[in-house]
Amino acid sequence: MKSSSADRRIRDLRPAKDAVDAWNPLGVLVEEERTPDRGLQPSITIFLAGAECPFTCVFCDLWKQTLVGATPEGAIPAQLDAALRQVGTIPPGAGVKLYNASNFFDPRAVPRSDLPAIVERLAPFARVTVECHPRLAGEQALELAALLDGRLEVAMGLETAHPQALLRLNKRMELEDFGRAAALLCPAGIGVRAFVLVGAPFVPTAETVEWAVRSVEYALERGAEVVTLIPVRSGNGELDRLERSGEFVPPTLNQMEAALERALELDRGVVLADMWDIERLIDCPGCGPERVARLERMNLSGRLEDPVGCPQCRVSI
Ligand code: SF4
Ligand SMILES: [Zn+2]
Repeated sequence: MKSSSADRRIRDLRPAKDAVDAWNPLGVLVEEERTPDRGLQPSITIFLAGAECPFTCVFCDLWKQTLVGATPEGAIPAQLDAALRQVGTIPPGAGVKLYNASNFFDPRAVPRSDLPAIVERLAPFARVTVECHPRLAGEQALELAALLDGRLEVAMGLETAHPQALLRLNKRMELEDFGRAAALLCPAGIGVRAFVLVGAPFVPTAETVEWAVRSVEYALERGAEVVTLIPVRSGNGELDRLERSGEFVPPTLNQMEAALERALELDRGVVLADMWDIERLIDCPGCGPERVARLERMNLSGRLEDPVGCPQCRVSI
């Protein structure tokens, strides 16, 4: 992909990458996740080490834990073996998410020659989720779906339905790219999972929650079955610059709570708050841990809970 001047500016501001081993997964997470029928499914997330994504979104920090150069052949199956050894017995009906901080259908990230070995290792899973930029989720997804025993789900970043902000995120995507990808995947029986940002840069702060909810609605209307709300994290260089210029204001726990509450009120699909590193949003020791625990419970139940009040910060959401 040809880099633009925006790509170069964003890349120039990046801090150094972490050292990443191509032959070991970055991490494995075993949890339970709500399903559209309000049941719970065991869900294993494998964070794969692989080639960096060719896109250069202003908010992205996933590149920090990627390889220099292409993913070597054989590395992804080897990482899956290591991850599955760590998990041990796979619970019946479990789903697996392969998150490679890039695009599963980019052959630089996942060599095509590794597909048979990957598919073989995914045989025990009822659902297999891979992540991909909407513009790269095409025929290859249909091919993978046909190879898998379980159901394929493609997780795609919608980020925001705010059209001008989306363009400025440098994701090289318009809203309809998400719609087009979903229109290809859904009729083929492939699930769509969407990522929506809370605190997307260039969205006015007073409208943060409103646009997060509108984005959830957009994804659900296009056929997404699961939508995850992700609070934007500063620290990638470009976001810190945008924070200084006032074009990015880091999201708050309050906004995450409000966005999840309003999304649950829609009573459609599965909407989840991303809990990874959510503790960093805690700004009051009096109520923060209980507010995080409430989000966790709402993720599992899909039901609204009463807000947490606090004598210390007087938060009453
Ligand atoms: S498409 Fe995804 S992985 Fe690639 S730069 Fe954008 S946010 Fe990061
Ligand atoms: Zn408080």
